[in-house]
Amino acid sequence: MKVLVTGGAGYIGSVVVEQLLKHGHAAVVFDNLSKGHAAAIAPEAVFVQGDLCDRELLTRVLAEQQIEAVIHMAASSLVGESVKQPHLYFENNLVAGVTLLGAMLETGVKKLVFSSTAAVYGAPETMPITEDAPLAPTNPYGESKLAFERLLRWYDEAYSLRYVSLRYFNAAGASERCGEDHAPETHLIPNVLRVAAGKDEYVNVFGENYPTPDGTCIRDYIHVIDLADAHVLALHVLDKRSEIYNLGYGSGYSVAEVVEMARQVTGNWISTEAAPRRAGDPPVLIASPDKIMRDLGWNPRHSELDQIIASAWRWHQAHPNGYEK
Ligand code: UDP
Repeated sequence: MKVLVTGGAGYIGSVVVEQLLKHGHAAVVFDNLSKGHAAAIAPEAVFVQGDLCDRELLTRVLAEQQIEAVIHMAASSLVGESVKQPHLYFENNLVAGVTLLGAMLETGVKKLVFSSTAAVYGAPETMPITEDAPLAPTNPYGESKLAFERLLRWYDEAYSLRYVSLRYFNAAGASERCGEDHAPETHLIPNVLRVAAGKDEYVNVFGENYPTPDGTCIRDYIHVIDLADAHVLALHVLDKRSEIYNLGYGSGYSVAEVVEMARQVTGNWISTEAAPRRAGDPPVLIASPDKIMRDLGWNPRHSELDQIIASAWRWHQAHPNGYEK
């Protein structure tokens, strides 16, 4: 299949492109490089630098490249930032998404895999989280993704635009070529590894009095390659129907456990500093991946936390300044 990947120069997008190519698909990356890196794009992919708000360009690329399906990953994705600047999230995640859908309808492209998020659930009490859990986002990031998911249903009904919405839990780890390089870095595992590498003195632990066994937040960390594989599988659903799937492993680790595991993996001491809770952080998020395993035979191969951290560590050691040469 020939697939347009929006956000294909980003952390997860670049690995999705790798996996698409590995499975014999062709990839066209559409990215404005506001967060992504040209060096992250697999050389076999076609790259178009452009903005999702540019409907004319989008329409032209979809038509000229004879795109059959879109994987839509371009988004703003920081919970804390979304609380402070919600307009960015509704503009980048909702308005831009609607523009993309308009271009798809205009060119007759009716297959979409959408990067959604566990943040659509807010702070549910029942774990693991299944797809039918109540939808109650606690921040504008989750709200913007949920709003887009909701309108997809109506595009399906009216225009037969089939979609698979993948609700990611915590993406982590690296492939051999592609890893996490954000500026500023906000995610736990790369921040912990910055300390292991001697770049930072300590890592903040945001909240130590959550209702969890050690008081720190628990997350379901999923290897970016397993996450990417799910996108490739999802393409095959689009001939038949629309679906929503959670993507995680069904088990979680606390912030303190991640730090301890990183000490073991890297062999380096990692200092921590207690810090206030971060706005919008739920205490525990663990996915039930049963539905995607059952329906699509998704078979994660990298679910061990030590493997996830080791892959990120290898990438960071090979790229001490990220994608910058
Ligand atoms: N976290 C932390 N210190 C950091 C970064 C993150 O304690 O430097 C915590 C954060 O509060 C959350 C968990 O680690 O409980 C995972 O955060 P991350 O930003 O990696 O992903 P999110 O859950 O926000 O998608």
